Amino acid sequence: MLIGAIADDLTGATDLALNLARGGMRTLQVIGARDDVDALSGYDAVVVALKSRTIDPVEAVAQSLMAEDLLARAGYYQLIFKYCSTFDSTETGNIGPVIEALATRCGAPLAIVCPAFPTNGRTVYNGYLFVDHMLLNESPMKDHPLTPMRDANLVRLLQAQTAMAVGRITHKTVATGPAALREAFAAAVEQKKKIVVVDAINDDDLKTIGAAASDFKLITGASGIALGLPDNFHFAGLLDLSPPPASLPAPAGRAAILAGSCSAATREQVKAAAASGMPTLKIDPIAVAKGLVDADGIHAWAQAQPDRQPILIYSSDDPTTVEAVHERLGRAEAGALIETLLADAAQRLVGSGFTRIIVAGGETSGAVVPALDIAALEIGPEIDPGVPWTRTSDGQLALALKSGNFGAPDFFLKAWSRLT
Ligand code: ADP
Repeated sequence: MLIGAIADDLTGATDLALNLARGGMRTLQVIGARDDVDALSGYDAVVVALKSRTIDPVEAVAQSLMAEDLLARAGYYQLIFKYCSTFDSTETGNIGPVIEALATRCGAPLAIVCPAFPTNGRTVYNGYLFVDHMLLNESPMKDHPLTPMRDANLVRLLQAQTAMAVGRITHKTVATGPAALREAFAAAVEQKKKIVVVDAINDDDLKTIGAAASDFKLITGASGIALGLPDNFHFAGLLDLSPPPASLPAPAGRAAILAGSCSAATREQVKAAAASGMPTLKIDPIAVAKGLVDADGIHAWAQAQPDRQPILIYSSDDPTTVEAVHERLGRAEAGALIETLLADAAQRLVGSGFTRIIVAGGETSGAVVPALDIAALEIGPEIDPGVPWTRTSDGQLALALKSGNFGAPDFFLKAWSRLT
């Protein structure tokens, strides 16, 4: 194995695995830090998917170190810690503590931080994170149900999370090329920085960072941080490039979408799916809390729908309604309630002939996949930037795990055409 990676949620893990696969690496995504080193052999890159994005920092550190231990026993050369391109970590979040722990564990003198994903409009400039033309704290991310992002300054945000000194490297240096960037890394080390936020506004910047970081033990960022890495191994004669898949042979069976994301992109996708005439079932968290809606009810509704077209089950709602739900039920409680319900529903659907499933939402996917007892996923074709179809190792289930804010409005309609 050349690259070992730890992702703080499932959809993020898939997104990173996709970039590594597109770069020519044979890539496996493993669900959780399972203690099965043998299963990792034969791959160029292994991405361990955790569900640590919003858990307590102490627990997130423990899980990340356990994943590192598994990857270390399989023998990685370079470690990636992957988080969201919208950072999804407030001042009390765990990205800083996890970077600190991993850097210490693998003896990295300097760790790179770069959540840029330019294809999806996430760029880092002067250390500030942008979502399209907006600063992070002015984007819809300011209203995220679990991680409301109220500061776009990544240096300030990270420095609140970690005792390690955080510096930054500007776009001017990145645009000059890998040699200038390497010098800036060396200067940061001399200034006793342990973490550097590096600007990137396009994919070429990410490739430059990748090239300059060929000797780095620890690289952290969104999936784009992997863009330049496979080539380093290829040029060093360590990697034979494998072409990425164009379609995915999927098992026959019914198709369903489970959407627990309230992100703007998912809400658009729900609207487009409903407008197309797709059968839809909206889940109201208050009704769930009162015991008026459960997995049995969802299953019964699914069974009553025509089996020739996909169905959509969603709890996605606008920020005002979500806020009202939080006031009544509590933020974490409402999240857990919906996650558990959609996970139970997924289990019931798969048990009754559904074999092609899209899940929208990082946390939601993180609840659904363990409920389906999935150990590992092979990476298939890309549907929209950052979201591939995947297939369980036994070939029984095709899954697309979509980060809430990813995908074009017609994602729920067009995704099925990539399955054969
Ligand atoms: P995203 O990828 O868009 O961030 P996630 O699934 O990670 O989506 O997070 C969305 C969170 O919001 C989940 O915990 C989910 O259970 C919760 N949620 C879903 N629908 C509602 C709703 N209507 N009201 C409140 N919380 C909700």
